[in-house]
Parts: sequence; C-alpha cells; structure tokens
Amino acid sequence: MKVIVVGAGVIGVSSAHYLNAAGCTVTLLDALPGPALGTSYANAGQVSPGYAAPWAAPGIPFKALRWLFDRDAPLKIRPDGSWFQLVWMARMLANCSHAAYDRNKARMVPLAEYSRDCLRSLRAELGLHYDERSLGTLQLLRDPAQLVAARRDAAILERIGVPHQLLDVAGVLEHEPALARVAHRVAGGLRLPNDETGDCRRFTERLAEHAASAGVQTRYGSDIAALLYRNGRVTGVRLADGEELAADAVVLAAGCASRALAQPLRLALPVYPVKGYSITLPLTDPDAAPRSTVLDETNKVALTRFDTRLRVGGMAEVAGFDLRIRPERVAVLKRVTTELFPEAGDLAEVEAWTGLRPMTPDGTPLVGASGVPGLWLNTGHGTLGWTMACGSAQLLADLMLGRPAALPARDYTPARYSRAEKS
Ligand SMILES: Cc1cc2nc3c(=O)[nH]c(=O)nc-3n(C[C@H](O)[C@H](O)[C@H](O)COP(=O)(O)OP(=O)(O)OC[C@H]3O[C@@H](n4cnc5c(N)ncnc54)[C@H](O)[C@@H]3O)c2cc1C
Repeated sequence: MKVIVVGAGVIGVSSAHYLNAAGCTVTLLDALPGPALGTSYANAGQVSPGYAAPWAAPGIPFKALRWLFDRDAPLKIRPDGSWFQLVWMARMLANCSHAAYDRNKARMVPLAEYSRDCLRSLRAELGLHYDERSLGTLQLLRDPAQLVAARRDAAILERIGVPHQLLDVAGVLEHEPALARVAHRVAGGLRLPNDETGDCRRFTERLAEHAASAGVQTRYGSDIAALLYRNGRVTGVRLADGEELAADAVVLAAGCASRALAQPLRLALPVYPVKGYSITLPLTDPDAAPRSTVLDETNKVALTRFDTRLRVGGMAEVAGFDLRIRPERVAVLKRVTTELFPEAGDLAEVEAWTGLRPMTPDGTPLVGASGVPGLWLNTGHGTLGWTMACGSAQLLADLMLGRPAALPARDYTPARYSRAEKS
C-alpha cells in the first residue's frame, strides 16, 4: 500500500515508521524544513501514562472562573473571534462531568501505557537516544490541600492498576535530592515510577533519520494545499506549488492544521490549538537539578532534566493560532525554576518557546478511519502527544492493514462525536 503521511511532528514521524515497518511504501511530508519543528519541538519532555487524564475534569469550570482573575494562572482564555472556539469550549465543558471524565480517562490511560511499552521496544530495537531517562516522574505537592487531592488521585491510580507512591517530605527528597535546598516548599509528592522522560524533538529527529534510511521518502519544505478527493475517496495531496502526489491512503498527522485540511471534505475535526510555553536552559550544577521530571502542582509546570539542560514547560491559553511569546508567561516559568531549583541552571541563557497543542474536547486523540475512504487520522493528542505517539502509530498501522489491534478502534475515531455520547 502506498501511503502519504501529512506532518512530520512526533505523531507523523512515528506513523511513517510503523507503516514502513509494516511493509507500506511511505512518503512523509512537512511544510517546515525538517522534522519536529512544530509543537513537537520543545514540549515538557514527559512520557507520562500515569498522568494521562483529560483536562476536562470535574471542578475545572469552577477553577477556570477563579483563574480569570489570577495574572499567573495556568489557564487563560481569550476570544479568537471564531464560532469554533465557542463550540469547542462548550464541548469541553460537557466533558467535565464525573461520568465523562471516567470514560475519557479509561480511553487515554490504556493508549498511553501501550505507547510507553511501544516506545521501550522501539528504543531497544533501534538503539535510539534522546536524553531519555526511566526514573519515573514526581508530582510535587506544596500544601496540605494538594495532599488531599493527591490521595484521591492515588485511589484512582490504585483502581486502574497504575503503580504509584505517595511520598512524605523525606520520600520526596530521597527521589529528588536537589529539592533539599528548598525543603520548606515541599509538603509531599505523588511518584509514578513507570513514567519516563526525554527530549521529544531529538526522539523525532532520530526516528525520522532511521525511517529515511529504512526506505521512507521524506519531503520537507512541502506545504500541502489540499487533500485530493476523487470518485468518493481521498487519492493523494496537492502541494502549494500545484504538484499532485497520489497514494492509496493519506494519514493526516498535521497537528493543529489537521482541522483546516479536513474541512473541505466536510469532516469537522474538533481539534483546537491550545497554546503552551517552555524554556530550556543549560545546567550549571547538575547536582542542583531534578533527576527526572518534577511537576509543580501549584503552577502546573513541569521541570524536566535532560542530559545537560533543564526544560521547564506548561500553561495553557485558549486563544487561537497565536504563536507570540508573552514575556509575562516566560517570567512565570523562570520564577518556578528559581523557587524549586535555584542553583540548577543559567537563567540568563534561556531559550523561550511556545507551541500549540492539538486538543480535542475530551482529551482523547483521533486515531484510525476518518469516515472518508482513503483518509486516516492520527491527530488531536493535545497535552500527551509525546506520551501517546508510538502507541497511536502502531494502532493506526494495525487498523490500516486490517491486523488485530491492541486497543478498541471505536474509542479513538471521530465517530464518537457524532454518536453524541452521554456526558
Ligand atoms: C508547552 C507544551 C508542553 C508539552 N508537554 C508534553 C509532555 O510533557 N508530554 C507529552 O506527551 N506531550 C506534551 N505536549 C504535547 C505534545 O508536544 C503534542 O501533543 C505533540 O507534539 C503533537 O504532535 P503532532 O505531531 O501532532 O503535531 P506537530 O508536532 O505540530 O506536527 C504537525 C506537523 O504538521 C505540519 N503541517 C501542518 N500543516 C501542514 C501542511 N499544510 N502541509 C505540510 N505540513 C503541515 C507542521 O509543519 C508540523 O510539523 C506539550 C505541548 C506543549 C505545547
């Protein structure tokens, strides 16, 4: 089967790899000059099935109201003037019930866990290195109220069988000794020992190199103007310069641009760009840095250790396709770094970045048949694209080739939106 994959972020590159490994003839296209130059460029670096949960959760509407009046709030909403933004937010609110949260989480966790296992196998098979670490992740709780919420989360993790440890202050310092410098800020922690970390961009670049050497044709700098639709099916793509490329199947893995590319086919993908920020700084004292990811629950900011760098990322702005870097958001990331790891790195040498998470209202990605013959989806991974990349790509390849899939396909198709599931 001849397949075109649209988009060379972590999702598109993983899709190209697994489809090629399954025997397809694959062409991987991206408008940008290389892989991982979109949202996969500088995310927070967590491969974290333990935290796989939709943002649409009970209590979020109330918190969002409170955050409207907080300058440094983790979530900001600014009208982008589109009807789609309103519809998307309404759908997200509808997913904030307990029943919808449980259903959505029950779809996200198995995909994320499967994905971590696929990543481990891939790493062993190909010998990929990307500043990877397998030391778990730690949610840092700064006050007693957070401890109460963490106990509730731990009960859910217990129920769904995800290994975890609730830690007191001494336990936190045992796993993240650098926090001893600021022990007065530590009330406890929730550790997920099976989570991993690593640089998503490096992973994507390495996998793209491997895929190219294994036969995937890569065409960077190829801006796709439209999907070709003839005789009731998608038959290829047309580039901005007019060139047409034919294929038996097209995989849409274009992140936040997936919606616009699918729209002419009357496919309304509910994928909205939710903006986030990161800073990356060189380590000056590795012993004063985290050993893995420390997720600061107070600010919803993750601090992840790479080999010689510290990546600090988080925050969400529902504000349309706006890639301006706001200095006040960068200042929050710097403040959190100074509060928790004051001697770790050089804040004068910060690389600030912003990216748009391709988010669905229920937090679950769209993986599988699109409903339009010839067009397949792998998009909408939102906050967890790095965590879910390998599993989504393997699932997609199995579905496209009619092989037994590890997860129930119906949970990940856009049909769940037209079925109007009860929230
Ligand atoms: C601040 C921040 C922190 C995050 N932290 C984490 C984390 O710790 N763990 C985690 O799992 N996830 C995290 N994420 C989410 C994760 O980064 C994303 O889910 C993931 O990168 C999405 O990958 P993608 O391949 O779908 O999109 P992208 O990486 O954006 O790739 C899409 C590609 O499609 C290309 N494209 C678009 N339109 C066209 C066109 N017309 N023609 C050709 N090419 C086109 C783009 O150029 C782009 O390269 C974070 C995100 C942000 C913003």
